[in-house]
Amino acid sequence: MEMILGLLTDLLVWVVLIALLLFSVWNYRYGFLRASRLALLLLLLAGGIYILFHNSMILVYSVPAACLMIFLSFLVPISRKTKMIVDSDTRHDERDITFARHRLKPGSADYKDYYERHPEKVENDKKTRNLPGLCAERSSFFNRLNAAATGASFFLLGSLRNAVDGPVSEIKHASPEAITNFLRALSKHYGACCFGTAKINSKHYYSHVGRGEGQYGSEIPAVHSYAIVIGSEMKPGFTGTAPLSPEVVEVGRRYVDCAVRAIEIAAVVRSMGYSAKAHIDGNYKVVVPLVANEAKIGGFGWSNLFLTKKYGPRVRYSVVTTDMEIPAAEGIPPDFIPFCSICRKCAVNCPSRSINPKKPDKINADRCYMYWNSVGTDCGKCIAVCPMGHPWGPLKSLALRSATGAHLLKTLDDAFYGKKPESLKLSSWMGN
Ligand code: SF4
Ligand code: SF4
Repeated sequence: MEMILGLLTDLLVWVVLIALLLFSVWNYRYGFLRASRLALLLLLLAGGIYILFHNSMILVYSVPAACLMIFLSFLVPISRKTKMIVDSDTRHDERDITFARHRLKPGSADYKDYYERHPEKVENDKKTRNLPGLCAERSSFFNRLNAAATGASFFLLGSLRNAVDGPVSEIKHASPEAITNFLRALSKHYGACCFGTAKINSKHYYSHVGRGEGQYGSEIPAVHSYAIVIGSEMKPGFTGTAPLSPEVVEVGRRYVDCAVRAIEIAAVVRSMGYSAKAHIDGNYKVVVPLVANEAKIGGFGWSNLFLTKKYGPRVRYSVVTTDMEIPAAEGIPPDFIPFCSICRKCAVNCPSRSINPKKPDKINADRCYMYWNSVGTDCGKCIAVCPMGHPWGPLKSLALRSATGAHLLKTLDDAFYGKKPESLKLSSWMGN
């Protein structure tokens, strides 16, 4: 018995030591020095105790006993009383989103038409128009080179609009399932971090054009009934700099990445004889988070951002819609809100107080966008601080299921990354 307990203790201690080492290295690599050092310190401490008491009966009995107690406490389920209401039944009008409103030229017919229908938005939007703007010279976090790099990504995205659709091959190849499996592997090979499939309907499409191709204000038909969602990971070292300018460089870059992948995948599908169109940043005709949710890739967080279990909110998405009957994802997407109601780190850290700390409400998108236009970046603090975006591995699954797991993850995340983390400083080549 003692020998078995001894072996079990060795195994558990080594698992913890290796996990601490990997955690420390990951954090060092991305510039989270506080988390890296703390993990290293714990590693040395745990390793030291293990060496000192290696043959002691105290260790042989206490480690498995502690693990058993922790395991039992994880069996207490998390409360699922708090729910987020996602309006997925009414079609969203793209003209209402802040980006579309901000593009309207004062005095134009579209401007007059929009604000006649929405007089309640006039004052707010006037104030936003008077702010310096994204990547603008007078903005608080302006950095000339980073602004130029961001501009380059969005210039490329604008140029890619002509490539989102194209001719369809007259020869139709069978087996959408085989084609989908190929596309899944191809996306991974090209570097996509997420790939999902969904059956969609009109509620996943915007109702009217607000930006991108097509006549402003024209109705958007729900042409295709199937969708592929492709995600590109934003590197944590860059998102950690939020709300400073390297964050927005990364955002632009990852929009380009997933746009290129979606364009290629749509072209492959058309070559197989099916109609397909890529939806990329600035030219979405579908509401991407709703489609991603339907594809069971993840779910909505307190910040209204779309989260995945592996990357949290650190992902940018594009979509391919098609008439190819792809098999839709099965299962239930993860529910983050029970953990969020314990965490609320995004609400606490939001510099513009756009996220309601009391209930999982719609965020105040106008206030958030106003902040972006005054600092000149797209902020992203709610992305940077989210524990789901940190490398907590299986602890995240525990936090979504059990009350103890949720409190443990929140406590660890606060200890390692800080309750109100400072923006990371990147190496000098990029500056902030
Ligand atoms: S920071 Fe916390 S509360 Fe906000 S979305 Fe992430 S997990 Fe949820
Ligand atoms: S909601 Fe807007 S202002 Fe608040 S943290 Fe997120 S991006 Fe920043």
